Amino acid sequence: MAEDKPTLCCKGKARTYNVPFPKNYNPEFLIFEKGEGVYLYDLDGKKYIDFGAGIAVNSLGHGREDLAETAYEQMKKLTHTSNLFTSEPAIILAAKLVSLGNFAAVHFGNSGTEANEAAIKYARLYSCNKKGNNSHKILAMESGFHGRTMGALACTHNPLYKTSFEPLVPGAEFVPLNDIDALTKKLDSSFAAVIVEVIQGEGGLNMMTKEYAKALNTLCQKHDVILIADEIQTGIGRTGWPFACSIVDLEPDIISLAKPLGGGLPISATLIPEKINNCIKVGEHGTTFGGGPVTCAVAGHILDIIFNPFFLENVRKNSEYLIKKLKETSAKFNFTGEVLGTGLLLGLKINQPKEYEKDLIKEIIVKCEENGLIILKSGKNVIRITPPLIIEEKHIDEGIEILTKTLESFGI
Ligand code: PLP
Repeated sequence: MAEDKPTLCCKGKARTYNVPFPKNYNPEFLIFEKGEGVYLYDLDGKKYIDFGAGIAVNSLGHGREDLAETAYEQMKKLTHTSNLFTSEPAIILAAKLVSLGNFAAVHFGNSGTEANEAAIKYARLYSCNKKGNNSHKILAMESGFHGRTMGALACTHNPLYKTSFEPLVPGAEFVPLNDIDALTKKLDSSFAAVIVEVIQGEGGLNMMTKEYAKALNTLCQKHDVILIADEIQTGIGRTGWPFACSIVDLEPDIISLAKPLGGGLPISATLIPEKINNCIKVGEHGTTFGGGPVTCAVAGHILDIIFNPFFLENVRKNSEYLIKKLKETSAKFNFTGEVLGTGLLLGLKINQPKEYEKDLIKEIIVKCEENGLIILKSGKNVIRITPPLIIEEKHIDEGIEILTKTLESFGI
C-alpha cells in the first residue's frame, strides 16, 4: 500500500534522511555517486578527498578499472559455487594467504565480525579438544573492538554496543592493554584464547608495546592459549607492513582479516595453524558465501599489488609525510594534541575545551565534510585518518589544508 511506504526526503540531491534503514544508523546520510582514486563525488557533483577509505577498506582507492575488470571477467565465468565445491580463484588466494606465515589453512567469510567469530570458534574447538570444555574463556582488551555478532561482540569492550543485547556469549573477560601485571594475573589455562588488536582502530588508536607483545607470546604458549591477532583494520599494508604484528613482534596462532582484502567487496579470512586444523572435523564450521570466486579473484589481485615491497615502502614514506603534516597542524591549535597510530592508520587527539558547549570532535568531522574532506573518529576524542594506501604527497597537502582551515574556523 502506497501510504505505508517510507518517504525518502532529500535536501539537495546528495543529503537524505528518513531512509528505511534501522535507527542504529545516523538519521541523515550523504549520498555518494562515484569515486576516482582518493576522491569521492556526491550526487550533487561535489568532490571530497577521502581520508577514511570506507573505514580502512578502499586501500587501492576508488573506481579502479583493474578491480572492476577482474570482478567482471570472473562473474561472466562463475559467480558462486557454495562451500560444497570450490574454484581456482579461491584455491589461489588460500595458497597466497597461508604462505604469509606459519598457517595451514584459511577459512573464508564475508565480514570482519565473521572472521573473528570463526577465530573464536576454532580457538574453543582446539581448547576443548586439548584441555576439556572448562577452558572456553576468551580474554580481550579494554577499548578493543572485534565486531557485532554475538561472539565477537562479547569480546568487544564498549558497553554502548553490548548492553541491549545481553546475555552475550559467556566467558569473555577484559584486561587493560599494555598492563603486563594484569595479564599475568588473569591468564591461565581456563582461557581458550586471547584476542587483540596491535592498534585499536575503533578504540582510540592505542598501540600495543613490544614488551606486551612479548608477554602475550610467552604466556599464551605457557598456558596453551590460542593467540588471535585481529588484523581486520591493521592488516594487509595499512601500517606499511603486511601485518601490524611484525611491528611489535607479536606471534599469533590465528590472524583475522577483512576490510581491505576485497577492495570494497565483502570477504574475510581467518588464518589458522596446523595444530588447530588437525582438530577440526568436517561440518563443524562453514558458510555458504565464503570464498566465492568473484571476491577471491579480486582479493588475489589486491594482494599482488599491496604485498609488492615498493608499494609498502611508498606507504611508509607517505605515512612519514602525513605524520609530519599532522604534527605541524597540531602545533597550531590549543585543542589539538598527540598524533597517534602508525603507517596510514593515524589519529589526531582533540581536547574538548571546557567552555565549548558542543561536542567539538563531532563538529570538526561535520565541518570537514562540508569543506570536502572525509575523516573518521576513533574512541571518544581522536580524529582517525585512514586514506587509501595509494595516497600521494599532493593529496596529503590538499587534505591537510582543508583540515587546518576547518580547525581555524572554530576560532578557539
Ligand atoms: N575487528 C576490527 C579491528 C574492526 O575494526 C572491525 C570493524 O571496524 C571489525 C572487527 C568488524 O568488522 P565488520 O564491520 O566487517 O564486521
